[in-house]
Amino acid sequence: MKNSIYLTFTLICIISACKNPGVIFEDALCIENISIINPNSGLTENQTVIIKNGIIHQITPSLKLQLSDKNTIINGTGKFMIPGLWDAHVHFSYIEEMASSMPDLFLAFGVTSVRDTGGDITFVNQWKEKSLANPTDAPRVMVAGPLLDGMPNVYDGSDPSRPPLSVGLGSVTDVVDKINELDSLGVDFLKAYEMLSPEQFATVMILAKEKGLKVTGHVPLSMDVMSASNAGLNSMEHLRNLELSCASNAAELLEQRRRLLASGKGDRGGVLRSRIHQAQREIAVKNYDPNKAKEVLNVLAKNQTWQIPTLALSTGFTERYWVDSSWQESFNYLPASIEQQWLTNINELSKRKLKPFNEQYSDWLINMVGQVHEAGIDIMAGTDCPIFFLTPGRSLHKELAILVEAGLSPLDAIKAATLNPAKYFGMENKLGSIQENQWADLVILDANPLDDINNTRQINAVIKQGKYYDRDRLDQILARLDANH
Ligand SMILES: [Zn+2]
Repeated sequence: MKNSIYLTFTLICIISACKNPGVIFEDALCIENISIINPNSGLTENQTVIIKNGIIHQITPSLKLQLSDKNTIINGTGKFMIPGLWDAHVHFSYIEEMASSMPDLFLAFGVTSVRDTGGDITFVNQWKEKSLANPTDAPRVMVAGPLLDGMPNVYDGSDPSRPPLSVGLGSVTDVVDKINELDSLGVDFLKAYEMLSPEQFATVMILAKEKGLKVTGHVPLSMDVMSASNAGLNSMEHLRNLELSCASNAAELLEQRRRLLASGKGDRGGVLRSRIHQAQREIAVKNYDPNKAKEVLNVLAKNQTWQIPTLALSTGFTERYWVDSSWQESFNYLPASIEQQWLTNINELSKRKLKPFNEQYSDWLINMVGQVHEAGIDIMAGTDCPIFFLTPGRSLHKELAILVEAGLSPLDAIKAATLNPAKYFGMENKLGSIQENQWADLVILDANPLDDINNTRQINAVIKQGKYYDRDRLDQILARLDANH
């Protein structure tokens, strides 16, 4: 047995040596002796990764290859390669003035793909098209177009905290017309929002299925989580309104919400939504019922309703990590007026006293993410940047760290930011792991992220569809943003 293994090994060596040296690969980017980390299988040491024409051409144990100097050869000794990261929840149009810095910021922090979860379709499509035209210079952008909301709609543009990210749809016919329009404009998925009626929501689900589009969203206030999931909702953002369905008095809360929605028809959507959250969230968390939660999570698991918990956003108010100078360093890369605004807002907010419920809700969210993970429901890492002092790119690493705090292993957190979003869009054969014939979207780290998830910030190089950005090049991008600032 031993002999036959030895013989096979020798044969492979002879065959690869004959095929080999330097003839097969020219003008390839070759990263030698690197440890690669695949979301499903974990770490493999001493690999050589050959990249040609933007694609991972070959991966092989380093010993088996001698590369000619007609290739660009990078020594990966002591370094770790992970797939390019995704931020699965961003808004190019939330602060329009910041949008042009966002692609560079994402790339500089290793984010090679993003999912834009709501904004004017013409505006967000610009960034998608720019990326398609120059795929090596910008992250891939998947767009939902505007939030599909009922009436009154929440993000109606009425004040800076509610820019016009949504469309308010008055009827089922309006829903049909809007989805047909968005589909013709090339959206990659849809986002349903909190003011939709159950009938409108059902229509979104039926049409999306017909058109092969995934639907993410906030569970509408007029529904409970289980019926939204059973209707076909593919994913939920921020665990929004999950607490309302995990309460012992969930049915009563739903009745009360429906009454509040009916009596608030004449109000601004944002005002009405806040009023309902204020009336119910705290009560729901205080009436949290573990058996009810189990029932809800079982339904989400059965239907594979994925979760994008956006914990950096939701726990930011209690954790206040944005007060730290180490966090604020990244504000140097933002337009100066925005940095000023953020610093002023941070100053105001940090004076605000926390209520006991703020802490309780943060703890509830983190605990619930652990349970979601245990229940076998897939998670995607998303931030909601640039909302709430979340610097694009930088903030994704914070999200990964909090996902690990919530109970994911570092490898599962990496999976949530690589393979899972690729799978969400049916792109797992092209993206999301380190395998031959996949697009070469990769990040090279100076330290092992499986030892400490914070090591995803130790970025040595980023590769976007085959283009290699070493640390100097990444620093140049950041320096340019700093200079424009
Ligand atoms: Zn959002």
